[in-house]
Formats: sequence, C-alpha cells, structure tokens
Amino acid sequence: MTVLPPSDADARRAVKPVICYPVETLPQPAMATLTRARQTMTKTDEVLVPARDAKTFRVPAGHFFRITSVEGSQVGDLNLWNANDLSERFYSGKTRALHGTHITTGEQMWSSFPHLRPMATITHDTLEWYGMDAFGGSVHDVIGTRCDPYTHHLLKGGQYHHCCHSNLTRALADHLGVSLKEAEPHVHDVLNVFMCTGFTRDTGQYFMKASPVRPGDYLEFFAQIDLLGALSACPGGDCSAEHSSDSAQCYPLLIEVFAPAEGALDGWDAPATSGYDQTHGT
Ligand SMILES: [Zn+2]
Repeated sequence: MTVLPPSDADARRAVKPVICYPVETLPQPAMATLTRARQTMTKTDEVLVPARDAKTFRVPAGHFFRITSVEGSQVGDLNLWNANDLSERFYSGKTRALHGTHITTGEQMWSSFPHLRPMATITHDTLEWYGMDAFGGSVHDVIGTRCDPYTHHLLKGGQYHHCCHSNLTRALADHLGVSLKEAEPHVHDVLNVFMCTGFTRDTGQYFMKASPVRPGDYLEFFAQIDLLGALSACPGGDCSAEHSSDSAQCYPLLIEVFAPAEGALDGWDAPATSGYDQTHGT
C-alpha cells in the first residue's frame, strides 16, 4: 500500500542538513613537516602487484609509500594493519564519516576501535584535480567494500576466486604463514585506490565508472604507525564495465616505500591511541 505524504512533507524535506562530524576539532596532520620531509625521501623498497592478484608490504612508521599506476588504467584495493597488532586495522566507515566518500591529500586513514588514530596520511595525489564530476563521482573511495566471491555468488552464482577479497586473503595468508581460514577474518573494507565511484542521485545506488588514472599517476601516503599493507590489483581493471570476472583488461600496480632524510621529521609525533578510557559507563 502506498504511504501518502503528510501535509507538511515539503517543509520536512526542506530542513537543511548539518555535517555529522564537523572537522574543525579533528587533530590535523603536520602537513608542512610532511611536505618538507617528502622532498628528502629516498626509495628503500618496492613490490610489484601482478594484475588480478595481491601482495603484502611493510612500511615503518615515519616512512612514505606510493601506489603507482603502471602499464595501464587499473584500480587497487588497499588494506592496512598495525604491523605489530593486526586487530588494529583500517576503519573505512569511520574514515568516511570524518572525511566524506573519497579521500585525497591531507586526509587520513583512521584505525579501528579502541585505537581510532590515523594510520596513514595522504601526502600527494596526482588525481586531486578530478574533484567531484557531474555524476557525483570521485576518486579513491571509502564507500565500496571490496569485490568478493560471496556477493558474486549471491548475485550471479558460480565460483570466482580472483576477487580482491580472495586476493587479499591469499596474500595475507602467505605473508603470515597461516591458513586461508585464519587469514580471511583479518581482511577488511578497503580504500579503493584510483577507483571512480559515487552514488546515483535517483536511486542512491553505488556506481563505478572508468577510472581517470593513467600510467605515472600515484597516490602517496605517510605511515603514522608501523604498517602491514596488502594491495589487490582488482579484476575489474579500470572498473569501466564489471568486476569479479576475467573479462576486463587488467594491469599491475607498483608499491614503493621511501625513507625521509635524517631529521626531516622533526616536528612530527607518532599518534597516540584514543584517550577514551573504555569503561563504557560501568
Ligand atoms: Zn576488486
């Protein structure tokens, strides 16, 4: 049965929104220091993530890392953990609540409760120019989850094994030397690097479109804590048509780790975990 609108429906709809989490009180990263420090950095490590697969990488606190498009337009699904305690991991939902649907230079990747501290700060984004397009789409989202074989099975049936979820699970299991079953619960909602996404205005549905990323483009981060990362080169390629299949053209992604010069981080302090006392009212 259709629900009829009340007589004051228009007035109710006309109420102006307020920002849930105003960011004026959000602790700000030391961007001036980080911007200076990145000018001094030298490469210490690199990992090439093959197309349709994932690799892990380590970044010590105080180092930078970059994810670069090589060979062709390709999106990546990124997981981050505290390298010393995997229970502290990237919290996509809270990052979205604080920074909005997509993140860029100066914004941070926040960690799960009870830690809630910045794990990584974006220090350079060659796609920052993209902004928000006419469809409401933007780049590097924290609204999608990661392509996975369960949703694929739910919607289309069949067994597809090279979704980002499975790629990340295999890479983490290899890195930790544990079974897939032990590794899988550590895999979490991602930062969709280079992916161009939004919500349709009419139905509010999650959409994707061809990524504007081109070889040479990169997203660069500063590690605020010791990080273990895993990156999957999504089987969707540039995500212009579909994922969770072998039909898209896919390319590798390059991860590089950089150390700043001695003394370049003077003025930066590693973030403390949340000051909440965890007594929850008892
Ligand atoms: Zn994917």
